Amino acid sequence: MFERLEDECAASSDSDEERPIRCGSCAVAVADESAVFGEGGRPAVSTFFNPSGELMEVVTVRTAPGLRPAGRPTSDFSWFPGTSWTVGACRGCGLQLGWWYRRTDGGEFAGLITERVRCG
Ligand SMILES: [Zn+2]
Repeated sequence: MFERLEDECAASSDSDEERPIRCGSCAVAVADESAVFGEGGRPAVSTFFNPSGELMEVVTVRTAPGLRPAGRPTSDFSWFPGTSWTVGACRGCGLQLGWWYRRTDGGEFAGLITERVRCG
């Protein structure tokens, strides 16, 4: 799935300019492609099972200005050790695009569900 996102980024890029990662629903720019990183030595894209048993593919980004934290932070079922999380909703349409993570030692990052975002 992330290969699709990378292909879209490559295809939409006429120049060396970075393209934003956008909400797949309303196209608001959520994060910059250059913000993609691997948290805690992981690859930038990881797959996880949620508590409902659904497989989710998540790309981590250092910051996501288009993602609004929603709800109270919790550390229940956190996929990243040493973090608490809240749901991350699109600032444009409110669709859940992923999660905001806060490290217990400070700092934040976001995880975006690859099938709910697109590039370009
Ligand atoms: Zn949206």
